[in-house]
Amino acid sequence: MDLEFSAIMNKNSLVISNLYVQTNDGKEILHGVSLRIKKGEIHAIMGPNGSGKSTLAQALMGNPNYIITRGKIKIDGIDVTKLSPDKRAQYGLFLGFQDPVEIPGVNFGSFLRMAVNENKKKEKRISPIAFRKQLLEQADVFAFKKDILSRNLNEGFSGGEKKKSEILQLSLLKPVYAILDEPDSGLDIDGLKFIARTISSLSHKFGLALITHYQRILKFIKPDFIHVLVDGKIAETGDYVLVKKIEKKGYRQYIKN
Ligand code: ADP
Ligand code: MG
Repeated sequence: MDLEFSAIMNKNSLVISNLYVQTNDGKEILHGVSLRIKKGEIHAIMGPNGSGKSTLAQALMGNPNYIITRGKIKIDGIDVTKLSPDKRAQYGLFLGFQDPVEIPGVNFGSFLRMAVNENKKKEKRISPIAFRKQLLEQADVFAFKKDILSRNLNEGFSGGEKKKSEILQLSLLKPVYAILDEPDSGLDIDGLKFIARTISSLSHKFGLALITHYQRILKFIKPDFIHVLVDGKIAETGDYVLVKKIEKKGYRQYIKN
């Protein structure tokens, strides 16, 4: 690819090139992962347990426990490989965690307002009253109990409430690229449908990497590309047909002994 062409291609994309990631104790988990996610595209990243999906999500977000030893991450052409999670978020990256952590002492509603107002110029910041109104409307849409907004972030939330709170953050923060790590885990069928519908309705606004080990959510969200991650490498990339293949033969077909 000539340089000019590749610069244009990188402009509206989250580009992951040849990423090698190891844990703090020196164990290499990802062995050269490459992906290009354009705005408006949905990429499903599927793979068995322990294949490195969450490691990829954490490395993209800049969790210091996951060390990038080779390769690059670029957001719209800007190299963020060495930037802090905060900086990456400023460039528009969002991560919905597989296991959202409970944060004692941090009020859910205040946290959301802080997150929305961060990096905004003073005159653009939303006032507490206006935000409260917006939040109560959203809480209604998300069928949250009213008291949840005055509780501490994720503290005592049910599994489903934690997942919904991640998607509520996504809808308020309006990122440029979102990585959702198993947004479907622990949800009952109504919760799953709701989350899937909400993600679908937002997804044209950003580029999405949707991590899942199970095809259930893909009945409701139609990805443009499917990538199969096995043993820290992309084993195959394709369209929806791949889901059928995985459903039929499982991930075993990709595992070489
Ligand atoms: P997945 O999300 O696909 O189930 P993970 O990325 O969570 O897989 O894990 C991939 C592998 O890396 C697993 O073998 C897991 O035990 C290991 N791993 C993940 N995080 C750490 C860590 N912080 N320290 C040591 N090993 C880890
Ligand atoms: Mg995981």
